[in-house]
Amino acid sequence: MTKVVFITGGSRGIGSALVKQFVSSGHSVFATSTSNSGAEAITRQIDALNGEGKGLILDLKKNNLSDFIAKYTAEFPLPDILINNAAIVRDNLFIRISDSDWEDVLQVNLTACFKLTKSFIRPMLKKRWGRVIFISSVVGLTGNVGQSNYAATKAGLSGLCKSLAREVGNRGITVNCVAPGYIETDMTKKVGQEIKDALYNSIPMRKFGCPDDIAYATLFLSSDQASYITGNTLNVNGGMFMP
Ligand code: NDP
Repeated sequence: MTKVVFITGGSRGIGSALVKQFVSSGHSVFATSTSNSGAEAITRQIDALNGEGKGLILDLKKNNLSDFIAKYTAEFPLPDILINNAAIVRDNLFIRISDSDWEDVLQVNLTACFKLTKSFIRPMLKKRWGRVIFISSVVGLTGNVGQSNYAATKAGLSGLCKSLAREVGNRGITVNCVAPGYIETDMTKKVGQEIKDALYNSIPMRKFGCPDDIAYATLFLSSDQASYITGNTLNVNGGMFMP
């Protein structure tokens, strides 16, 4: 059945694949970018697929989520499916992480997910149907040198996911994480060749993932077929980490 889907960070990488797959499956998709050009690119992508929905501007670093939600609610349909996908990295060794890099990563990757989910879950509670998905990461489970801030947010999403899943399960709402391994996007472009080779060799499937791999897993968790799966993390990592 056609649903309304809201995706943060739909302009590039995994977010763009999410837009493509959800629109192609017949859903109405509203997805965000921090820039006007990114939002326009999302709208063009939706239009090219003859889909319904729109690209919107939203910067999760700015503390203006309540204004955005008020405007969104006045103009667009409330989402049945919320995908918290946008995230940033500010990699550094723990000892060198500045307060502002710690705070920015926490704000975008965790606090904004809390605020957005809190706003959009209310109508799901009334409807007694909903899907909340957090795009977390393999490093939230394993940790990673130079990523204490990022890993803390991704591990935090897992705790948030399980707690919320317990609270809303009896209202027909499922809450899950999708944890990508190494996916080739702008986010991983800066990874040095030596580290890339080591990661590659740690993947039993001997290939890096692509954005569509994450989109397919998310599509499944959002479907009626996944209605008895909640509080879980679906690892999509080619076997790189097996909890
Ligand atoms: P990209 O860096 O390629 O894309 C990030 C997206 O988030 C863009 O659409 C970007 O919008 C948006 N974004 C960035 N900053 C903000 C902000 N301040 N406010 C709102 N939106 C913002 O990332 P990926 O596609 O690689 O990652 C998507 C998700 O997958 C993230 O949660 C990431 O942590 C997770 N992940 C990715 C992995 C990988 O290997 N790529 C591995 C594990 C997890 P704009 O275009 O406007 O900048």
